[in-house]
Amino acid sequence: MLNKQKAIQNLDEIIKKVEFARLQVSQHKIVQIVGVSKYNTSDDVANVYKAGQRAFGENKVQELKQKQEELDEYPIAWHFIGTLQKNKINNLIDLNPILMHSLDSLELAEELDKKLKIKNKTMNCLLQINSAFEDTKSGVDPKDAVEIYKIIQEKYTNINLKGVMSIGTHSDNKEDIIESFRLTKKIFDQCAGAEICSMGMSGDFELAILNGSNMIRIGSGLFKI
Ligand SMILES: *Cc1c(COP(=O)(O)O)cnc(C)c1O
Repeated sequence: MLNKQKAIQNLDEIIKKVEFARLQVSQHKIVQIVGVSKYNTSDDVANVYKAGQRAFGENKVQELKQKQEELDEYPIAWHFIGTLQKNKINNLIDLNPILMHSLDSLELAEELDKKLKIKNKTMNCLLQINSAFEDTKSGVDPKDAVEIYKIIQEKYTNINLKGVMSIGTHSDNKEDIIESFRLTKKIFDQCAGAEICSMGMSGDFELAILNGSNMIRIGSGLFKI
C-alpha cells in the first residue's frame, strides 16, 4: 500500500519534472496532471489526493463507478481514459466524468451523442488519435483526424469536443516517440477551438510536454511504492 509520505514524495517528484519541462517551453505554459489510478485501490487514491492531487482517471466504467462511490467524500475531478464499449455508454454518462479522453471513432461519437440527447446531457470529450500507427492502439487515423474532429463538432452537438488525446509510440527509440507527439500536436493545432492536448504518461511525459502536451496522464510514477 502507498503511504501518505510516499504519495507526497511521488507527487513532488512529478511536479518538479513537469516544472522543469514546461519552463523550457514557456513560462506561461500550464500542464495539468491526471493521476491514473487504474491499478490502485481507493485508499491509495485518497493518499495521493491528500498529497494535493485533485484529478484522477480510470479506464474502465465499472472501476470508475466503484472509485467514485468509495471516494465520495473527496471533491475529485474524474476523467475517463479507456476504450468505451457501446454497451457501457449509458453507465458512463451517469457517472458525469469531467472529461472523456477516448472518443476513438465516428461510430462511437454518433452512439454517444444519441444517448446523451436522450438523457438531455452533454459530455466533454477528446478525440483519440492513433499517432503511433499501432494496431493495438485505439484512435482515429491521423490523416482523417482533423476532418473527423470537424464532423463531430458540427453534427454531434451534445458532445463538447475539447481537444485531442494520444498514447505515445511504445518504443525505446526517443525519436519515434517524439514523432508521434509532434504529429498529435500538429493535428491539435489544426482543430478549431481545441484547448486540451492530452499526451504523455509516466515514461514519456517530459518528452510529451516539450512537444506540445498540456495534459499528462500519470499512473505508475504517481503510485509507486
Ligand atoms: C494506464 C494509462 C496511463 C498511465 O500509464 P503509466 O505508464 O502508468 O503512467 C495513461 N493513459 C492511458 C490511456 C492509460 O491507459
